[in-house]
Amino acid sequence: MELQFLGGARTVTGSCFYLNTGKLKILVECGAFQGSSEIEKLNYEDFPFEASEIDYLFLTHAHYDHIGRTPLLVKRGFKGKIFCTTPTKELARIIFFDSARLQKEDRARSNRKQNKGGWEGSEYEKDEPLFTEEDVENTLKLFETYPYSESVTLNEDLEFRLRDAGHILGSSMVELWVKNENGRARKFVFSGDIGQLGQRIIRDPEYIREADYVCMEATYGNRLHKNKDETMVEFLAILKEAKRTQANVIIPTFAIERTQELIYELNLFYGKKIIKGMPVYLDSPMAIEATKVFRKFPEFYDEDATRLIEKGDDPFDFEEFEAIQNVEASKRLVSAKGAVIMAGSGMCTGGRVVHHLANNIENPNNHIIFAGYQVRGTLGRRIVDKEPIVQIKGKDYESRAQIHTLGGFSAHGDERDLRYWLRNFGKTPRKVFVCHADEDVGIAFSEKIQMELGLETKVPNYKELVKLD
Ligand SMILES: [Zn+2]
Ligand SMILES: [Zn+2]
Repeated sequence: MELQFLGGARTVTGSCFYLNTGKLKILVECGAFQGSSEIEKLNYEDFPFEASEIDYLFLTHAHYDHIGRTPLLVKRGFKGKIFCTTPTKELARIIFFDSARLQKEDRARSNRKQNKGGWEGSEYEKDEPLFTEEDVENTLKLFETYPYSESVTLNEDLEFRLRDAGHILGSSMVELWVKNENGRARKFVFSGDIGQLGQRIIRDPEYIREADYVCMEATYGNRLHKNKDETMVEFLAILKEAKRTQANVIIPTFAIERTQELIYELNLFYGKKIIKGMPVYLDSPMAIEATKVFRKFPEFYDEDATRLIEKGDDPFDFEEFEAIQNVEASKRLVSAKGAVIMAGSGMCTGGRVVHHLANNIENPNNHIIFAGYQVRGTLGRRIVDKEPIVQIKGKDYESRAQIHTLGGFSAHGDERDLRYWLRNFGKTPRKVFVCHADEDVGIAFSEKIQMELGLETKVPNYKELVKLD
């Protein structure tokens, strides 16, 4: 058997594992690379296999870095089945269409630029878009969804089961039972992204007792998050301070999960009247769509969220909350004062948040809150790293607003959570592959679990191919 690491290897984005058992060719995830234009070029590379020969694709959850190249795989000939949970499918549909639309717009824009003779983009932007809406339609036809915990036997060489990863709505870990060349059963566990314990709305990650080979994420393998209560106190203090000075709070948010968790939290604050007289705007059509999917699947909620609904509270709405759909209304937010504005994209690489940052970043009274991981090379990361001058839409801005990172909102487990998850394997896995982390973080985490848990580990390189028996 061979396992090849086609993304998420010594980097956090582009997750993609290619498992060739000799009889079956399986992909787990088909994510897109995100970050600098250098990194994003990798999205256009050829797959090192014939897409039409892949039998199955498993998607752990609907984040772009885990599913983003799926329609491209289909465009290049993949006709097999795609397995995931129902919420993952519905959220993936939103992400695919949004991405196809953005690519079409980028393309139109770069064509206009080229026509004017003012081409400034990098080489690859001149290429075809990665995929179109038609490719997305074809992709959606291949999905087959399953609930958590159901064992599915596909044939005598493959059985699988999805388990709750507690990361975003519908997120799963994949357990795969396959046969090696000698007909021996081997079990793989692909962790996907592992959620933080005690996250809002969704349940905690499940623990898995057995595996021969584990491919796991380690995004925060070198860090401990502040605890949830401290984070909420900090969040509340920022809101109160902004209210006092009539300043704005800009929150770049990921459309899926982070947005809904923030609204959930704000609904509690506003419901108890801890904060009032401070409007909250969700300026993201994509996040509004994603929230509809959240409403559709209450059976995926944890106990607290379920209890809230039973009491008749709508966790995704409150009096001073307003969802902004159209562009005109979004533009009017330029004159907002003493408001909370949540907008995408989560890493400030595009979307409406870019305008809000340009409007607000130079005022030292304003606040910018980061509640999610910022990939290296993105505008979000530059702001978090406190670069004094940042470029927004080609113009320089002094970064003078107050910058906060609320790690307690993270949808990823921290170092302790990840180690705890590993400790729960009853039988020591033959090997643990540490993926989905910046290189230094992955290496540090790998060394730590080698020493403390006595595990055999590897931090694979991009495109590295490992032979397994
Ligand atoms: Zn994720
Ligand atoms: Zn991820």
